[in-house]
Amino acid sequence: MTKSRPERRSWAEPYKIKMVERLKMTTPAQRKQAMETAGFNTFLLLSEDVYIDLLTDSGTSAMSDYQWAGMMMGDESYSGSQNFYNLEANIKKHYGYEYIIPTHQGRGAEHLLSKICIKPGDFVPGNMYFTTTRLHQELAGGTFVDIIVDEAHDPMNLNPFKGNVDLQKLEDLILRVGADKIPYVSVAATVNMAGGQPISMENLRAVHTYCQTHNIKIMLDATRAVENSYFIQQREVGYADKSVAEILKEFCSYTDGCTMSGKKDLLVNIGGFLAINDTKIYEEARNLVVVYEGMHTYGGLAGRDMEAMSRGIEEAVQDDHIRARVGQVEYLGDKLIEWGVPIVRPVGGHAVYLDAKMFLPHLTQDQFPAQTLAAELYIDSGVRSMERGIVSAGRDLKTGKHHYPKLELVRLTIPRRVYTQAHIDVTVESILDVFERREEISGLEMVYEPKYLRFFQSRFIRL
Ligand SMILES: *Cc1c(COP(=O)(O)O)cnc(C)c1O
Repeated sequence: MTKSRPERRSWAEPYKIKMVERLKMTTPAQRKQAMETAGFNTFLLLSEDVYIDLLTDSGTSAMSDYQWAGMMMGDESYSGSQNFYNLEANIKKHYGYEYIIPTHQGRGAEHLLSKICIKPGDFVPGNMYFTTTRLHQELAGGTFVDIIVDEAHDPMNLNPFKGNVDLQKLEDLILRVGADKIPYVSVAATVNMAGGQPISMENLRAVHTYCQTHNIKIMLDATRAVENSYFIQQREVGYADKSVAEILKEFCSYTDGCTMSGKKDLLVNIGGFLAINDTKIYEEARNLVVVYEGMHTYGGLAGRDMEAMSRGIEEAVQDDHIRARVGQVEYLGDKLIEWGVPIVRPVGGHAVYLDAKMFLPHLTQDQFPAQTLAAELYIDSGVRSMERGIVSAGRDLKTGKHHYPKLELVRLTIPRRVYTQAHIDVTVESILDVFERREEISGLEMVYEPKYLRFFQSRFIRL
């Protein structure tokens, strides 16, 4: 029997490869050795021992020839660099904010914004937390309050906009503490910790209208706002015929400013910025950035870095680019769903998450199922992933006991424009091989545990 033609054409990449980086090919015996040396922690592997690196999409993107050409046009003057003005113009054009301040990466912008806007005793509501964002809010004396919809916490719920704000939760907070204790609502798009889930235009518009009546600002974590805009185009009524660039501009128009990690959407290895409409906040940020990052026209970046990010902004909002980027993530997710491998759904914009509790049901959470699965996958094929489960959750500071998170996940994060469909196929095949022999896999015991953010450096042995 001949196969029937697929209904539509695939998401093939809108670029071709001009330069390659050679990878070391390893044997299973070498990988077993490397994993033992790394204490069964994928963070402790040498990157040269990794074949397909799906640890993170942060700063791991491939730049284009246009961006590399821009690197050669770096104006490395101490102040007034041309590259700053190019960056400023492109942020204004595509994100729409009035003032911009470059920072060395996203957390630099979060630091400035939190320090300026948050007073001790304030509350900062947000659609689920992000590690660095929340920490800066707390260091400034604020208390983070989660106001994301309940569906976000359920890995099986198929709601297309699991990043949405629950307006009732916001209202409850205002009734409890008063609007004057809320400097701004912190909105992330897409929501990383929920698995890259988007927020809808309708929801953000409603949050905007509601916040205006209470005179509360909205600050966007715009790190993956382009990926969010693509999901709006694909899933929300009324947006199918709009370009991602148009959608992004409308999306940002419902907010008062943003922090940005250019290491994600914007296709650079380093860089970020704070963008803001309020003149007063801008004035203060322009003063403070000199203390922590550098002059307001470079903020810790070289001229060439700003140029690469400026050009990355132009490339990131191209419909063809973002369709291929998210398409590759969906391709990986769809293959795994087809084969019955348990993953978090719907598939997000930047990563696929394996459900390690369902993958390795014979392991208790104390035997670190996600850590075990990440190690096993590496030994099988050299694919590096990341644990997002009990190890990442850490211990309760008061009782000293493990936190037992509901979700025990392995994150496969796809760098932008780096791997081919064949790499994704190898990843799928390796996961299937591990899935087939899952019953033989034994758990781990933790033998070294650092006090803070233990997932980076903890070590394990096999049980
Ligand atoms: C990466 C990230 C940040 C922090 O940015 P850095 O560039 O790593 O400092 C903030 N928010 C989100 C959603 C991120 O993914």
